[in-house]
Amino acid sequence: MQTNVEEDDALPQRILCERCGSILYEGMGLNLPYEIVRRYNGKCPECGRKLFSDPINVEVKKIEQSVSV
Ligand SMILES: [Zn+2]
Repeated sequence: MQTNVEEDDALPQRILCERCGSILYEGMGLNLPYEIVRRYNGKCPECGRKLFSDPINVEVKKIEQSVSV
């Protein structure tokens, strides 16, 4: 059986705390991980865990579009 996943960009994003599993962000659209980190001062509001060890290293890749001639 095959699973066809189309429209990847339409998937909602969800960022969870690694420790307690609280939902820190859930929604559609592109949210940069470090924006979430900044929003919570780098810590989970529930358990106080550091959200990402090094958010600066998170790379945002540009979507390569196939060029049609
Ligand atoms: Zn937490």
